[in-house]
Amino acid sequence: MKLVTYQLHGVSRLGAVRDGAVVDLTAVAPDMLTLIESGAEGLAQAEAYAKTASPTLPLNEATLLAPIPMPRRNVMCLGLNYVEHAKESYTARGQETKIPDFPIVFTKATTDVTGPYAAIPYDTAVSTRIDWEAEMAVIIGRQGKNIRPEDAMPYVFGYTIINDVSARDLQTQHKQYFKGKSLDGSCPMGPWIVTADEIPDPHQLAITSRVNGVTKQASNTRYMIFDIPAILYHLSRGMTLLPGDIIATGTPSGVGFARQPPEFLAPGDVVECEVEKLGVIRNTLAPEQT
Ligand code: MG
Repeated sequence: MKLVTYQLHGVSRLGAVRDGAVVDLTAVAPDMLTLIESGAEGLAQAEAYAKTASPTLPLNEATLLAPIPMPRRNVMCLGLNYVEHAKESYTARGQETKIPDFPIVFTKATTDVTGPYAAIPYDTAVSTRIDWEAEMAVIIGRQGKNIRPEDAMPYVFGYTIINDVSARDLQTQHKQYFKGKSLDGSCPMGPWIVTADEIPDPHQLAITSRVNGVTKQASNTRYMIFDIPAILYHLSRGMTLLPGDIIATGTPSGVGFARQPPEFLAPGDVVECEVEKLGVIRNTLAPEQT
């Protein structure tokens, strides 16, 4: 099932996509987090309802928001989780490549989550080095701690796409990633959550990004250094994962700052992130704020 959060008459609502239309699921759950927390039973109800209820509106007329517009806690992210991206990042900084022994984990603020087609704010007074990072994100379906790799996959509710938009100048200035990864609008997400049953192998999906139609990243999730069971194992060691947690699994090579010469986004640029079977998100850099 493809689950969406969409806006109708100014109110955000839960829906499912069926035959090119949105079926409203408010009768089943008021919002995505409530649905996820209702577990397998809630999901089965949603599926049954989505199959039979009349569509509310055509998908192309729906205003889609991020599937989880306001997560309960920060979006967790893997850094340098593709070998080629680790190489390009160290090379761009004039350093020797080190493949991490443990996942590099950082977070993005809840307030930077934005819709799959929303404009990304641009303010040169804050940053002039806005970069793209196409990523597959995992949505956690149930609470877990000390999850063993072999038990990990049933904890996954579904998958979505995020663009881990990064202000590279702030990322460097402030040492830790948090600030440079958390500007408003720098976590476009969606267009929907595809439930785990529809993605039998999330480690075999093409992942690409384009800027103004030009391909910048083209890889496959099979090249992740830490796969999903390994990520859930490391993150949940001594730390409880909750239903609705969002974990971005890292970006492949081809980001802007590591290119020769470096490239950054500018007002009017259109950046697209695509993951096979999950869809595409498309965001335009807004005119500069004055
Ligand atoms: Mg990233």
